[in-house]
Amino acid sequence: MALHMHSSHIIRKYFMTEDMLVLKLQKPDGFTFKAGQFVQVQVPDPEKPVFRAYSICSTPTDPTLDLCIKIVPGGKASMMFAAASEGDTISFRGPLGHFTVPEGIAGAHFIATGAGISPILSMIRERAASTLPMTLLFGIRSLQDVCLHEEFLSLQKDYPSLQLTYCLSREPNPPESWQKPGRVTTHLPKILPQEHVFICGSPEMVKEVRAFYMNQGIDKQQIHLEIF
Ligand SMILES: Cc1cc2nc3c(=O)[nH]c(=O)nc-3n(C[C@H](O)[C@H](O)[C@H](O)COP(=O)(O)OP(=O)(O)OC[C@H]3O[C@@H](n4cnc5c(N)ncnc54)[C@H](O)[C@@H]3O)c2cc1C
Repeated sequence: MALHMHSSHIIRKYFMTEDMLVLKLQKPDGFTFKAGQFVQVQVPDPEKPVFRAYSICSTPTDPTLDLCIKIVPGGKASMMFAAASEGDTISFRGPLGHFTVPEGIAGAHFIATGAGISPILSMIRERAASTLPMTLLFGIRSLQDVCLHEEFLSLQKDYPSLQLTYCLSREPNPPESWQKPGRVTTHLPKILPQEHVFICGSPEMVKEVRAFYMNQGIDKQQIHLEIF
């Protein structure tokens, strides 16, 4: 079945870091989605338009549809987003995807690297006020790439059921406040019965973390993946 195409204006565009962009799009009338889903953005091309997937980082009840985009040098969609201005129109189809939090789980462990934080941000923002125990292990390269820290600290202050850990993989001398230097794979949380793990980021990281939990005998149903 062909997916319905939507067109939205960019309401706001800003960079969280040198290469991590946030686009706040006008939410089309009647557009609904589940936290964790993505849209496919159309990139105009003289030969044939191409589509690129972007997870929604706002929550289903937020007034805007927000995307968190890592600008890849030379990338087709990246160049379009980098050049776009507030007021421009973006066309997309969706929502799509099954990377969502099932009802009735005992706890949620989120593991993200880079732009993989996008769908997880939506899931955490949506559940922050609930009593669901949640941990977030967020891997970035260096202090230059730190983003969303204030927001997560504030969520953690208001909702202590969220535990937050940033890992800085390429920072030679991380300050003491960053207790977890190294890659996310060296700090993976223990998954208890009825708890679920949600992994999003590069193919290598996702495969490695999945293999770790599979080797621990964690049921496949408890492991949710999104590969960027
Ligand atoms: C389900 C899903 C959800 C996604 N959600 C997001 C999201 O929320 N935010 C986000 O930023 N991306 C997301 N992605 C990735 C996104 O769809 C694009 O693949 C990415 O933005 C690059 O597209 P591009 O057109 O700019 O680059 P392309 O034109 O596809 O690639 C250009 C060049 O860059 C290289 N390249 C591509 N991606 C990367 C990368 N990540 N790092 C280094 N080099 C790269 C390619 O090998 C190629 O040489 C998602 C992907 C999937 C499958």
